[in-house]
Amino acid sequence: MSEKTTEKFEFKTEVKQLLDLVVHSLYSHKDIFLRELISNASDAIDKRRFQSLTDTGLGLDSYKIKIDRNETKMILTISDNGIGMSKEELVDNLGTIAKSGTKNFLDKIKAEKDSNSNLDLIGQFGVGFYSAFMVADKIEVVSRKAGEAIAHKWSSQGEGGFELEEAQRSEIGTDVMLFLKKDEKSYLEEYEIKQIVKKYSDFVEHAIVMDTKSNEYPKKENGDMDYDATPIESFIEEELNSKKAIWVKSASEVTKEEYSDFYKHISHDYNEPFKVIHYKAEGTMEFKALLYIPAKSPFNIYQPDNKKGIQLYVKRVFIMDDYANIVPEYLRFIKGVVDSGDLPLNVSREILQQDKHLEKIKKGVVNKILNSLKQMKEKEVDEYNKFYQEFGSVLKEGIHYDDENKDNLIDLMMFKTTKSAGLYKSLGQYVADMPADQKDIYYLLAGSEEEAKKLPVLEAFNKKGFEVLVMTDSVDDWVVSSVVEYQGKKVSAVDKGDVDIADEGEKKDLDAKKEEFKDLLGFMGKQLSENVKEVRFSSRLTNSISCLVNDQFAITKNMEQMFKAMGQTMPTQKKILEINPEHKLIALLKKEFETNSSSELIKDYTELIYAQALIADGDKLHDPVSFTKKVTDLMLKAFN
Ligand code: ADP
Ligand code: MG
Repeated sequence: MSEKTTEKFEFKTEVKQLLDLVVHSLYSHKDIFLRELISNASDAIDKRRFQSLTDTGLGLDSYKIKIDRNETKMILTISDNGIGMSKEELVDNLGTIAKSGTKNFLDKIKAEKDSNSNLDLIGQFGVGFYSAFMVADKIEVVSRKAGEAIAHKWSSQGEGGFELEEAQRSEIGTDVMLFLKKDEKSYLEEYEIKQIVKKYSDFVEHAIVMDTKSNEYPKKENGDMDYDATPIESFIEEELNSKKAIWVKSASEVTKEEYSDFYKHISHDYNEPFKVIHYKAEGTMEFKALLYIPAKSPFNIYQPDNKKGIQLYVKRVFIMDDYANIVPEYLRFIKGVVDSGDLPLNVSREILQQDKHLEKIKKGVVNKILNSLKQMKEKEVDEYNKFYQEFGSVLKEGIHYDDENKDNLIDLMMFKTTKSAGLYKSLGQYVADMPADQKDIYYLLAGSEEEAKKLPVLEAFNKKGFEVLVMTDSVDDWVVSSVVEYQGKKVSAVDKGDVDIADEGEKKDLDAKKEEFKDLLGFMGKQLSENVKEVRFSSRLTNSISCLVNDQFAITKNMEQMFKAMGQTMPTQKKILEINPEHKLIALLKKEFETNSSSELIKDYTELIYAQALIADGDKLHDPVSFTKKVTDLMLKAFN
């Protein structure tokens, strides 16, 4: 006889933190523990059913999730005949947090003070199994994995750690036993459980059953009920959920509430969905899709480690829920279900991923989403603005990655501009608003709108009434490098190369001035040759004395960083110092230069003019000490 041994394990730090958080922050939403456990049970059944497609011995006629109440011992048990867990899986799945975003999540939540937004974050994260510790002071999980003869029992009181030992279970599957806290008795009540299941798990595809009490009158000899007798108490197994796959219905048959409930069910989000896209594709490919745009962007939208989001069903059999099989990365915020009868059911996920039909479905779904967004943009401007605020910067990634839909995506783009007062404007609208004498579409990559608006490079654009797109997203670099032209108009950076905004008269004046000041500018250029590529007159400035601009072919800061990250060394890119030809100071300098062409004063002033341009650009001075000294000397001189 083998001896039964109990092994003890410590929880990983992040599990302790998450447990603590869940138990304390989610307290007002305790009910969701049942949703989480049912959802795990349902996932486990999906896995078994999927595996049984190839391993036929595993298949069952009836899959179900059973809720059992033991009132005397105060134990609530959730059982399933799903795939089960091996010993290692019990340790890995219930003792660590596999989700790689957890660390970020915990940091973020610690940074948020307000407990309501905490709740939103936790909702997005999907707290999972640990939520059961809100209502239980001890949990035991007995599980037997498909293909294994022996079961294991995992048990924990939440704090400290968990224990493992061998156990008995006649069938494959899992029991999660909650030893309820003293004051959580209500979770043993029939009515309470029924309500929670209806609210959160009605759409679960597998039957959720519970033994419920029924009082039946005994029958008379003739078979009729004897209503005069005392009713007999008996238990019947009742199905608690309606299991309705609303996506297979037509849109007119589904209520708003059902859409909303189903959204919350699949997304684990507390918020109402922002937009529902429900349709049936007909023709070469037949499939049904029920897709949602959430109201809020999840905190980890830029660490897309969790690829859950769109579930793929084949004839109502769940296959996988990796969104990447249905939509490209830039639509990763979409949630929902796609169900197709045209896909083969008995193949591996790997083969399915290469299936031609799936390619077509993908194409269809992407088209539909982009079309819906286009409609929204045209017909519900405010709604589209809200959407764009949340997901615009994710959508933009598509311009770089999805050549096929690039034009549609460009039309969906919106930008803030120097004239839009903080509101978004599409490129189409921008072009429509262009004054007749403006040739190009102008943009400026900047850290923020406020910062951008003060920059000297914009002076002439503002004076002429030329609107400038202010691009503050880190992906905007990619956008402008992929969008060279729009509606036949060149897309130009205001601070790059020799922008052409002067009219004929102005150009003539500028050329004349350039000639007149040639020697002085040359002298200044030599003086600054280590720092700038050239010193030249500008058509961009109207007030400031100087500004720094990039060479026509310069790469942007973001790209420079990217090349560096890839281990490529970049030669330092020198900027061009542009001078305002109309500024009084430059005329005075010229006078000085004509009397003394090696004047120390000109050298000092050149350095100061350059330093000012650097400061205005938000850059660091090369020699702040000498700069301060020069300024102080100047102040003294002004008094003398
Ligand atoms: P999630 O479901 O988001 O992965 P959970 O904390 O809810 O996170 O569950 C952790 C893991 O434990 C699951 O991914 C699954 O592998 C495993 N698990 C939980 N419950 C069951 C169950 N009833 N049957 C099989 N595996 C389960
Ligand atoms: Mg779960």
